[in-house]
Order: sequence, then C-alpha cells, then structure tokens
Amino acid sequence: MSNNAALLARRERLLGKNVSTFYNDPVHLVKGEGVWVWDADGRRYLDCYNNVPHVGHCHPRVVEAIARQAATLNTHTRYLHEGILDYVERLTATFDDSLDTAILTCTGSEANDVALRMAQAVTGKTGVIATNFTYHGNTAAVSQLSIRMPPVGGYGGHVRHVPAPDGYRPLGGEGGEAFTRAWTEALNEAIEDLKKSPFGFSALIVCPYFANEGFPQLPPGFLVSAAEAVRKAGGLLICDEVQPGFGRTGSHFWGHQYAGITPDIVTMGKPMGNGHPIGGVVASTDTLNAFRKAFRYFNTFGGNPVSCAAASAVLDVLEDEKLMENARVVGEYARAGLSKLGEKHDLIGNVRGSGLFFGAELVLDRTTKEPASDIATRVINAMRERGVLMGKLGVKQNATKIRPPMPFSKDNADLMLSVLDDVLAGL
Ligand code: PMP
Repeated sequence: MSNNAALLARRERLLGKNVSTFYNDPVHLVKGEGVWVWDADGRRYLDCYNNVPHVGHCHPRVVEAIARQAATLNTHTRYLHEGILDYVERLTATFDDSLDTAILTCTGSEANDVALRMAQAVTGKTGVIATNFTYHGNTAAVSQLSIRMPPVGGYGGHVRHVPAPDGYRPLGGEGGEAFTRAWTEALNEAIEDLKKSPFGFSALIVCPYFANEGFPQLPPGFLVSAAEAVRKAGGLLICDEVQPGFGRTGSHFWGHQYAGITPDIVTMGKPMGNGHPIGGVVASTDTLNAFRKAFRYFNTFGGNPVSCAAASAVLDVLEDEKLMENARVVGEYARAGLSKLGEKHDLIGNVRGSGLFFGAELVLDRTTKEPASDIATRVINAMRERGVLMGKLGVKQNATKIRPPMPFSKDNADLMLSVLDDVLAGL
C-alpha cells in the first residue's frame, strides 16, 4: 500500500467514512510558507486555493503573536482583557458606523447561527431566505439553509430558497436590470410566502459575493434592490463574509461594500486568524443588545486572548504589506491572463471575479454554455499533478476556483497560467 493509501485507510478508520478530501490523489501536506505548501515527499505546490492562510501560510508575525500570547495568558472570556477590546475596535472601524459591536466565535458556522438568532430577537420571526446553492455552515440551525448538503431530518419549514444568481445564465434570460428585477421578484415571492406561514419573515442571508454559488458577475447594484425589499418587509439582511471578507476582492475590505450595500448583520470566519480558529458577528448595538436580552449566550473560546492576538496580527500584516492593494493589482493581471487563455481555449466560457477570488467557467460550447463539469474535475486534478492547487465550484461545478493567499504575486500568476495553458492543451 502506498503511503497515501495507508493514510486514507487510517483516516477512514479513525475519522469515519465520507470525510472528503480534494483530488483523485489527495495531497499529504506537511509544511507551508507564503503561497507555497510542501508534501511529505518534499514536493512543492503553488497554493491557488486557500483563503484560510489569508496573509500567507505560517506568516512569521502571526506565528509570533500566537506564541507570545500563548506563553503569557490564554483563558476564557469571563475576565477583563484588553486583547478582545482592541481587536473589536479595529475590526468595527472597517465597517459602516452603524455596525459597531461584535460577538467573537470560533467558526463561521457559529457566527451564522448567532446571526440567525439575532434576526429572530429583533423581528420576533424565524423565517429565513437563502439561495438554493449556498452553504453557511454545519450547526443544526444553519445546515437548514443548504440544499447542497441537506440537513439530516429534513428542513424545518421555515426556510425558503431563491435561485442562486448566475450572471452568465441570468434568471429570465435577459441580463442587466431585467435580471436584477427578476431576481428581486423571486425574493419578494419568497418573502410573501414566509409572511403567510406561521414563521413570518426574519432574514435574508447571503454571501454578498455569492462565493459558493460560483461568484457570478452581477449587474451593478444587484443586491441594492434586494436589501430594499428585505427592509420594506421588516426583515434583516445578513451578509456572510466568510469568503470575500478581509480585502480579498481587492477593491473593498468587505464583500458587502463591494456589492454596494450595508447589511444589518455581518458574519466572518475563515481568513480572520490565518488558520487559527476565530470567527465573528458584527452588528449594531441595538441588534446585539436585542440578542443578548433574548438569548443567554456564552462562548468559552470565542475571543480568547490568543485568538485575538492572531486576528490582530492578520490586520497588521494586511495593512503593512498592503495586501488588499496586492489583491487588486495581481487579481487584475491574472484575470487578464486568464481571458487571454480564453482566446486559445474554447473551453473557457466566462472569466470572472475580483481581486484574488476569480476563475473561469468551463463550457463544452460557448453558444449553448453547456457546463464542462467533468472536464473541470479533470483540469483541477491535472493541475494538482503539475504542482498547482486550485478548486472548482458553482451550481454546475464547472467554475475553477482561484483564491490564493493574499501575497500571491504576478510571478505566481504567470506560473499558474502557464500550467493551466498546458493542461488545457493536453486535454
Ligand atoms: N459560510 C460560508 C459562506 C462558508 O463557505 C463556510 C465554510 N465553507 C461557512 C460559512 C462555515 O464556516 P466554518 O467551516 O468556519 O464553520
């Protein structure tokens, strides 16, 4: 048995079946630095996928901040500590003035769970709307939102799904404002349906970049009318920033700012601690206090001194190394390179994204836009064989997902593009 096969068998025995891995031949990673990771045989891979090591794998300043705080004090959050206050002060300064308080959690799932309860506390209702190809986490409550990974025991009846927006194949068949209107109409229908139900309408929860839906290119202001519809119906807008947050889009620190809207509640996780588990919910003082009044809530680890040291160091590095600007510049460069590859390879149907979150939708035919889902699987596996790690996602599972650590350079982009060129030519 090869070493990987033995590890897989052990993993299945100890962690259970169906614990998924990436790639036909999963990679056994042992080390990371910047945008690079190494496997157990010493082979180096360019990481074009991972947004968790946001400021780069094992960034020395984050590692040092964690080690220093772990050697000084780490405890739960029932004591006074300046670390959490300093961090929340810095975090909320990146938001609109109306979003000025926070609860810190350990994961994005928990953050969304809290956000749903905040909306319930404010509105007195429990009906929630999400898209039909989203994922907002794994707690009993938020797993109810996912069609892709259906909750055990079925749905509770309080969730309505609207179609995942797709700018390449717009709802109603027409792009631009007509598409925005058609989608907002679908949202309004879901709102009305909930209002007629015993649950009422509490909140719309969306990733403002629609990351899991395949980061569609949407008409300008697409979510503005959705936000208006939600408010008009007395609901709250929750933006899940687990993926586009912390400057990834290159132009804005938060995905909702990129989308031109101000939500009532914002949730975050993945990149926040560069791999150290920390998440958060940001809301207005009134919303947070309504939640505190309605629910007793305590989180042993959320916002502990070590997590806050890690998260603060991430903000330091983002600022000092100008990584949002890097995401903008390198992202534009890489997307232009990808579009250029599209002149050579008919498979590339639609290049899209912003900053360091972009990719191409692969299609069998540019006119019919028939998704090349199986080919996308072959492409990402062939990339992995050649030492470049990327993923795929979207409703049709045919969009390459390129979302590297933020220090990704133009040289890194050139390498990724030349390997992709090779792989596409060899299909
Ligand atoms: N929201 C979104 C949009 C996500 O993509 C994910 C994880 N992929 C989560 C929430 C859940 O985050 P976590 O795994 O930290 O609980």
